[in-house]
Amino acid sequence: MTSVESVLKKTPKDLFIGGRWVPASGGRTFDVDDPATGEVLCSVADATPADGVAALDAAVAAQPAWAAHPPRERGEILRRAFELLTTRIDDLALLMTSEMGKPLADSRAEITYAAEFFRWFSEEAVRIDGGYQVAPNGTGRFLVMRQPVGPCLFVTPWNFPMAMGTRKIGPAIAAGCTSVIKPAHQTPLSMLALAEILQEAGLPDGVLNVVPAVGAGELMEPLIRDGRARKISFTGSTAVGRRLIEQSAEQVLRVSMELGGNAPFLVFDDADLDKAVDGAMLAKMRNMGEACTAANRIYAQAGIAEEFGRRLAERMGALRVGHGAADGVQVGPLIDAKARTKVTELVSDAVDRGAKVVIGGKAPKGDGYDGGYFYSPTVLTDVPTDARMATEEIFGPVAPISVFQTEQEALELANDTEYGLVSYVFTTDLARGLRMSEGLETGMVGLNQGIVSNPAAPFGGVKHSGLGREGGSTGIDEFLETKLVAIAT
Ligand code: NAP
Repeated sequence: MTSVESVLKKTPKDLFIGGRWVPASGGRTFDVDDPATGEVLCSVADATPADGVAALDAAVAAQPAWAAHPPRERGEILRRAFELLTTRIDDLALLMTSEMGKPLADSRAEITYAAEFFRWFSEEAVRIDGGYQVAPNGTGRFLVMRQPVGPCLFVTPWNFPMAMGTRKIGPAIAAGCTSVIKPAHQTPLSMLALAEILQEAGLPDGVLNVVPAVGAGELMEPLIRDGRARKISFTGSTAVGRRLIEQSAEQVLRVSMELGGNAPFLVFDDADLDKAVDGAMLAKMRNMGEACTAANRIYAQAGIAEEFGRRLAERMGALRVGHGAADGVQVGPLIDAKARTKVTELVSDAVDRGAKVVIGGKAPKGDGYDGGYFYSPTVLTDVPTDARMATEEIFGPVAPISVFQTEQEALELANDTEYGLVSYVFTTDLARGLRMSEGLETGMVGLNQGIVSNPAAPFGGVKHSGLGREGGSTGIDEFLETKLVAIAT
């Protein structure tokens, strides 16, 4: 039986720079906590700005050889890492649950998803192509080649501590780019374990460098302004993303931004209600609601709103809340006290404005909940459009339901946000499904399904939800430059 202690013991806690595990310069460390108990799990090296520069030095030094490395071998490294992730899923899931809080089943699902990016991009590494074209006037030829963009900077959030990394690292490795990655300070362990696996899979020194730190801005800004990195890919909040875009402008970096969401979830009168409730459970409760794709605003059409709300509340009320590593637990704690305070405030605000609490609406009390950042699965009805949660990401297990009358009203409500990551539509009318899919201002639409993410498909948002796409056959394009060779014949 794997224990948390044994998994923690074998996980690296130093910085990973140039293929070596090194302490932070100056020897600083920071604590990683278990959000289910508030207790310290271990300490991890806290990278200084000088460590960041050393990591970028290593990435820059490794870049030319890595770009020239045979694509087949780049793919095979990813494939071996996929196999190792799959074989070690039990230990990795326990590690992830310990630092992030999600139930073991969710951690396993994330590791499977994370590993799939490596499998997918192992297959894409050998499919990078170009073009050959006769110039329209017939006197010349165009040769179009695709080359790695160069050293990359990655910053990832705590909610999917491994998959948000493999979504960037996978295509970078496949394309021949080196990188420096800074994981979120709450969850550095999954990324350090991943780096160790990639090293074991044969990744050459310096191709990936990992620098956990508590001072994210202090570490990253000089690297963004350095001029040697050619791309930044960020997953996190829109506020931070905006700042990184500004910083990137100076050196005109290629920018990929996977930012916040405010997903509408629309259930029409003609929907299959069983499927809609299943879909809502997935879209709302995957990762305890701590997902950019989480259903943030549920709109149900008048004819089915009551029945839908009743069924959803029944399912939400039956969920078991507790330590993510305990048997049968389906809902773990939120990431920290700040996150729980925000959820509590958003619920109070909605209630003050007239929303009704059908179930939940508070933090659970009693044995097993002390010290952790738990919040009970909650369903609210009659949530007014001026409630804060209509415009802000809830990032917690709270399902706010409002009623709409017509398709036009549903579309207007859904699009009334600066975000545009994903939306969900439940209807059995195919024409309506297509009309809605075309009209919704989001990068992705879940049509009669509550989850859209798949490594084989392009993931990303429009409006303030970001720039660029991760995954799918377009995912590697973010890491390739297109070069024209114009040939006189
Ligand atoms: P966050 O506060 O933006 O943090 C994300 C990452 O950025 C962390 O590694 C953080 O470091 C780092 N960071 C913070 N300030 C920075 C700065 N000034 N310069 C450079 N890096 C900085 O977001 P979060 O609260 O961790 O994550 C939740 C957000 O991510 C939500 O908005 C969610 O919707 C979004 N998200 C989007 C997607 C997507 O694919 N669109 C996926 C997952 C999450 P620290 O660890 O030090 O804070």
